Amino acid sequence: MRQCDRCGREITQRETAYHIWVWIVAAVNDVINNEQETSLADAVKDVEYRMGSIPEYLVTSDVYARKSYYICPQCKEILLANPLGGSLPDT
Ligand SMILES: [Zn+2]
Repeated sequence: MRQCDRCGREITQRETAYHIWVWIVAAVNDVINNEQETSLADAVKDVEYRMGSIPEYLVTSDVYARKSYYICPQCKEILLANPLGGSLPDT
């Protein structure tokens, strides 16, 4: 049984677990063309292609970072509702 990377709770086999990937790419004009509608898959492929053409010593976490996490259904809902973790209005 695996634990949620966010809350630490064990995820049972009867629950659906989720993988999330976070790609952070420097907003350099040339990296992603914001004027075109592109799918996430195409954008990631484009960034990875471009990263592959840059010498490895130039690719730093300041330019490009990618992380993946394994999370439980509750944490998925929390992250979808507030992915950037900003403060929520009082209800
Ligand atoms: Zn969780």
